[in-house]
Amino acid sequence: MGAFEPAGIAERLERIRGRIRDAAARAGRDPSGVCLVAVTKGLPAAVVPAVVAAGVADIGENRVQEAAAKRDGVGAAGARWHLIGHLQTNKAALAARTFDVVHSLDSTRIVEAIGRHREPGAPLPSLVEVDLTGIEARTGAAAGDAEAIARAVQEQPALELRGLMTVAPPGDDEAARRCFRELRGLRDRLEQALGIALPELSMGMSADFEIAVEEGATIVRIGTALLGPRPG
Ligand SMILES: *Cc1c(COP(=O)(O)O)cnc(C)c1O
Repeated sequence: MGAFEPAGIAERLERIRGRIRDAAARAGRDPSGVCLVAVTKGLPAAVVPAVVAAGVADIGENRVQEAAAKRDGVGAAGARWHLIGHLQTNKAALAARTFDVVHSLDSTRIVEAIGRHREPGAPLPSLVEVDLTGIEARTGAAAGDAEAIARAVQEQPALELRGLMTVAPPGDDEAARRCFRELRGLRDRLEQALGIALPELSMGMSADFEIAVEEGATIVRIGTALLGPRPG
């Protein structure tokens, strides 16, 4: 396991939590309003219980089958599993059984597919992923489609609309900040249009989570800064 021993995680976690606290303070925010999701994609399943033992209960995965295998295979009671990667309709049934939060709904079609497969009873907290970069081959809905997708989520009794998610353009802090501001503005407009609160803004990764917290992130998704580089 080498780099993934719990002690290393605990140390990195403490540093990250400190940076989140500082960023929240700069923005006059309460740091307890920021949920840290540990992104374990591409890493061995044994990382998950180590992360949970270090005190992070929220686990982010971008592939449905990888997450399902890890969820079945490791003892990580109390973990909440977040889908942060693109979802295809042929994986919707497995996703509906595997995840506790879904960040990456980006079409009405996928909303209907996962809504159909989710057991009613405990609605699945759901975010609409929006791409504000226009970078080719990126997933995420166009900003102009977000309202229709959000309304489709509201129509699914097994889903609960909670907010928006985005991935900033890489390597440019000012562009990342503009992107996060734009997502918050879009969220504010959607709250008006739909007449409901959309409390969650899932934005910020290892390279830009402090900027995201300054701009209102309620969920940051952190992989490499916490767990080191992914193999491959
Ligand atoms: C991989 C991934 C992350 C984490 O990225 P790091 O740079 O390793 O922190 C966050 N969000 C999404 C959507 C990802 O795919």
